[in-house]
Amino acid sequence: MTTQTVKPTRLVNTIHALLERFRNELTGARQATRTQLIQFLARHLEISEDAAGKLFDDLRQAGVIVRGDEPLTDASLPDRNDQQWSIHAGEDNDSVIRLESQLRPTKDVVRETQALDLLRRAIANRATDVHLDPFGDETEVRFRIDGRLEHYCRLSESIGEQLISQLKVLANLDPSEPFHPHEGRLELPIALSEYHVRITTTPVVSGEAVALRILRREQILRPLDSLGLNPVLLAQVRELLCHGEGMLLVSGPSGAGKTTTLYSLVHHLDDGHKNIVTIEDPVEYLVPGMAQLQIDPKHDLSFAAGLRTALRMDADVMLLSEIRDAETAAAAMRASSSGKYVFSTFHTRDAASVVTGMRDLQVDDRSLASNLRAIVAQRLVRRICKHCGSTRPLHDDESARFTTNGITPPEHVPVAVGCNVCQQTGYRERIGVFEIAVVTSEIAAAIEGGKSEHELRELLRNSGTSSLMSDGLQKVCDGITTLEEIAALSCL
Ligand SMILES: [Zn+2]
Repeated sequence: MTTQTVKPTRLVNTIHALLERFRNELTGARQATRTQLIQFLARHLEISEDAAGKLFDDLRQAGVIVRGDEPLTDASLPDRNDQQWSIHAGEDNDSVIRLESQLRPTKDVVRETQALDLLRRAIANRATDVHLDPFGDETEVRFRIDGRLEHYCRLSESIGEQLISQLKVLANLDPSEPFHPHEGRLELPIALSEYHVRITTTPVVSGEAVALRILRREQILRPLDSLGLNPVLLAQVRELLCHGEGMLLVSGPSGAGKTTTLYSLVHHLDDGHKNIVTIEDPVEYLVPGMAQLQIDPKHDLSFAAGLRTALRMDADVMLLSEIRDAETAAAAMRASSSGKYVFSTFHTRDAASVVTGMRDLQVDDRSLASNLRAIVAQRLVRRICKHCGSTRPLHDDESARFTTNGITPPEHVPVAVGCNVCQQTGYRERIGVFEIAVVTSEIAAAIEGGKSEHELRELLRNSGTSSLMSDGLQKVCDGITTLEEIAALSCL
């Protein structure tokens, strides 16, 4: 086979892509000329047309590319110039399987179709994560949809194992090595090229657990106005982004949508005239126009070292996926005091607690006060399903929640119902709830004066910074979500 320059997985994926294209997209036009097929192979495998030509001949030998619609046509007949070719998977894909077995040692022969089928189902269900957990002699499959883990199905042990080894092959991980944790990224056929899927495998008592994180390009690079910021906050954020230097932190627990907001903010600044460098662990998605550094402790590339590299790279804007230790905090402070714009996330519950968190990382009040421009605290709440959502009158004991937050209680509030569109949950998609604390001269003076977290929170409220809760309640008034969804914010 002419496969020296092509990874087997990639070749098999290309064949699957060809099959899909011929089956689904070109219904009624299931054939192509030799030139068209060679161009397709060259493009998708990134090989020369010469190499693709040889591959074409190999695929003919393997019975994957056949003349016309007739797989049994005598191969010894001379080809005509206008000959049409089609892709033949054979009975139950047997020609593709045969091809795969020629490409791989026999023990590794697997078909990715089941793994891709699972991914398609997860995507159709809008899942962001897929979990495969061995459980006795079965494998439990769960999808995370709108932030909640839902049971999807149970598979027999053998199917589960098969699926896991297919996923590992797609990620170029060794399927015969289940005793260590592994991380990787799946190589997907072009039909799924708008998705990036990261895989983490972990040995557990009853076998090997697998987690997939599914990222869609349009979810990562979302425009600022699609995050859920109300018009006032949106205008405030746009103005903040004109500063051009200092530090902006996005705060919240895991799964609060911090990364999405961070990318949106930085992407908004990307006018083609700024050098944007990101330092990430891990690099979640490759963004055109940004230089992305991957943290690699084995080679001494820490967040702090990455920041120094970014400064040497003459970065104007730096995105740091997280500040989690004193060394990183100190390096981020230095970078933001040198006239650069530094964006990062911080794992705390609201804006005021970020200040405590930074103090805990030995950042002194003075540099914090002078470098911090703003804190965006956020959570995600589920949006009520537009197809089935209803309303109910507001109960008397609920109206105080609105008035104490300075909002006029509505007469009716949304209530979740459930229909086929939202899988009976009553909700569909999620939206951000925000608190944006701009570090004004007054706030900066309070930070520098060593005011406590509680005092800072009071000061923010008194200076008109609305809390996460009041933004959430406003979204209830606007019919976007329910009181039940924002109940979790009340612990603030
Ligand atoms: Zn619904």
